[in-house]
Amino acid sequence: MKPLQELTRKNIWELTPYSCARDEFKGRAASVFLDANENPYGTLNRYPDPLQEQLKAKLSPVKGVPASRIFLGNGSDEAIDLVYRIFCEPRLDNVVAIAPTYGMYGVCADINDVEYRAVPLHDDFTLDAGALLAATDEHTKVIWLCSPNNPTGNAFQRAAIEHILTTFQGIVVVDEAYSDFSAARPFRLDLDRFPNLIVLNTFSKLWASAAIRLGMAFASEEIIALFNKVKYPYNVNQLTQQQALKMLDDLQHVELWRATLLSERAHLLPSVAELPICKAVYPTDANFFLARMSDADQIYCYLVDRGIIVRNRSRVQLCGNCLRITIGTPDENSTLLGALRQYR
Ligand SMILES: *Cc1c(COP(=O)(O)O)cnc(C)c1O
Repeated sequence: MKPLQELTRKNIWELTPYSCARDEFKGRAASVFLDANENPYGTLNRYPDPLQEQLKAKLSPVKGVPASRIFLGNGSDEAIDLVYRIFCEPRLDNVVAIAPTYGMYGVCADINDVEYRAVPLHDDFTLDAGALLAATDEHTKVIWLCSPNNPTGNAFQRAAIEHILTTFQGIVVVDEAYSDFSAARPFRLDLDRFPNLIVLNTFSKLWASAAIRLGMAFASEEIIALFNKVKYPYNVNQLTQQQALKMLDDLQHVELWRATLLSERAHLLPSVAELPICKAVYPTDANFFLARMSDADQIYCYLVDRGIIVRNRSRVQLCGNCLRITIGTPDENSTLLGALRQYR
């Protein structure tokens, strides 16, 4: 890896971050807070902890990552945007990403005026590490990987990802939003081995908390310090922190969801695969799967007419005639299957 200073934008490296009242006062017991111009009345009247320490302390053993290596943000989307703002000089630097993949990497590149080099996966949706590395140059700051990948559903070979991590001299982001549904060892457990690694996780999928907007980035303490410097001071609000703490009190429930969704996935995939209108379902390590249909557009509209919404991915690279189907409740899944079986 190149020195972190060389990978970081000069203005960010030299930035003096905003120092908020709750940053300056820390640690000692106090009961009279007259430092932040808050209204002393009400229940959500105080600014929240800018570094979410209680939440990180509770999350750390669950994720197997030290609290000092955790960044929390307003969804994974905040972490994605921060990666551009920290590392990529607009109109000068570029990033390399797999295609197809999650759309936010490309949108945030456009917003930050950073060149986005999309490199296709192999036809079977496996990772083409050689092609990704060949697309990099001296201005490539970041390689974006997503494993299990959205929308294809598959997790990539660990050896191929490790090859990229050890060969590329810049930052490698591995978005593991769906790793909770995969049997593969998550990369967040290997931060020690890869100083250039940033892993993304989210509360939006297995943790059933898309509404609270809470995303995680795991990385070296040095990279986390950059995230903390650039983020909005109070980027995770109090209600979100409270609700996340509550979710972390009920890990058994999360485990039950995981088991239920994996078992539903095991039933739904072969049932869709055997429909005459289905050409192929692709192996998945996520809570969704990609199905190649006889006519994705018509089937999509047919389902919408019956109040069933799936994601039409037929205009995405390598995904012609593909629908992306999320695993729902047993009832929702059988409603979908019943409708597909009646399609003429
Ligand atoms: C759903 C998803 C996320 C989650 O984003 P949030 O902003 O945390 O809701 C992140 N990455 C991928 C690839 C996703 O599919």
